[in-house]
Amino acid sequence: MASPSFQAPKGTRDILAPQSTRQRALIDLFADTVERASYGEVSTPIFEDIGVFLRLGESTDVVTKEMYDFEDKDGRHIALRPELTASVVRAYVQHRPALPWKVWYEGPQFRYEKPQAGRFRQFTQVGIEALGTSDPELDVEVIWLANQFYERLGLRQVSLLLNSLGDPTCRPAYLAALEAYFRDHVGDLSEQSVLTLDLNPLRVLDSKRPEDQAIIDGAPLMVDHLTPELAEHFGQVRAGLDQLGVSYHLSPRLVRGLDYYTLTTFEFAADALDSAQNAVGGGGRYDGLAESLGGPPTPGIGFALGVDRILLACDAEGVFDAPTIDPEVFVVDVSGAHVALELTADLRNHGIRTDRAWDNRSMKAQMKVSDRSNAAFAVIIGEDELAADSVTVRDLRGDTGQQLIPRSDLVAYLQNQLG
Ligand code: AMP
Repeated sequence: MASPSFQAPKGTRDILAPQSTRQRALIDLFADTVERASYGEVSTPIFEDIGVFLRLGESTDVVTKEMYDFEDKDGRHIALRPELTASVVRAYVQHRPALPWKVWYEGPQFRYEKPQAGRFRQFTQVGIEALGTSDPELDVEVIWLANQFYERLGLRQVSLLLNSLGDPTCRPAYLAALEAYFRDHVGDLSEQSVLTLDLNPLRVLDSKRPEDQAIIDGAPLMVDHLTPELAEHFGQVRAGLDQLGVSYHLSPRLVRGLDYYTLTTFEFAADALDSAQNAVGGGGRYDGLAESLGGPPTPGIGFALGVDRILLACDAEGVFDAPTIDPEVFVVDVSGAHVALELTADLRNHGIRTDRAWDNRSMKAQMKVSDRSNAAFAVIIGEDELAADSVTVRDLRGDTGQQLIPRSDLVAYLQNQLG
């Protein structure tokens, strides 16, 4: 019987070098950006008790339709994480770190979505969360950091959409007005939106269905129903962004896909990508989430950025190339004395990226592999070199030809040549 041939599961991908190297470089740049602002890395499990995610809200697609959940061998109901804010807030409630608690993360998320360009069932996010203060300047810091990260990647076509969703003091009155408005127009709404209306009228605003758009355009706006205190908070966030030169578009119908958001809410769109999948990140305040996970009332704000989509945006703008991992030096050993073994170890110990040929092949065959490796220099050891305790260094890119270098001078010579 023929062996079965397997493929990566639907909606998932294998990421090979150089794309994997590029993804890691992106994560390193993110870490550098947020660690400058004193965010420390937090690493939580990839799976949690499903209850952690159910707190995200029953009208959230991610929870109702897209969760990868299963029973483990002891009958616990487990879910692969669809996002990280809930896990981070669960960790906060469990460990009660000193406030403000500022953390960053990176890692895979899992959503049972319909796969398409830029939409996967396993995808990677980077993000930050900051718990413990409602200071609007923290909102500004958080948004500025995302903006700064896109800028450092070299992206120029990322727009920031900004809204305030109010809080439990003013949202009920707004929701009542919104629901009354949608009920008046229920005959013109899509079937799905009529169902959503029963769960959460706010989420109807999130509908992308064309038949809903005219009704949504006429709906009452949260920003017109904010209490004076919350309007002041939103005003300070906007003033802070202005002060730092971060441009934004007010987007009064932006509600985002998760139910827990309050006050400041934002999304980043990559204008170089197709508009269906151009969201490259988003976030906001979630001042009630810690309490709903059994903790003390604790304000919080954060964002998550989609790494896969950001890299697509980088491709579209022609920025942030994969860093090279080509060897700097390629060792060709035809001495028959296993010199390559020690030589490669020595060069690597001195920080020089080094590869070598295998299988004791001929000089010609090893040089061919060396040329293909894109190395800058070949280090060649034959019988003559062995006898003279030297090596031949051949410049594979420039025009300095080749030279016999004493073995003891090799590291210094190469370090000097490689700069
Ligand atoms: P969300 O948690 O839904 O706000 O997602 C934050 C960011 O993660 C989005 O702006 C996307 O860039 C990215 N993202 C969300 N879902 C997916 C997915 N299924 N595939 C790829 N990226 C995603």
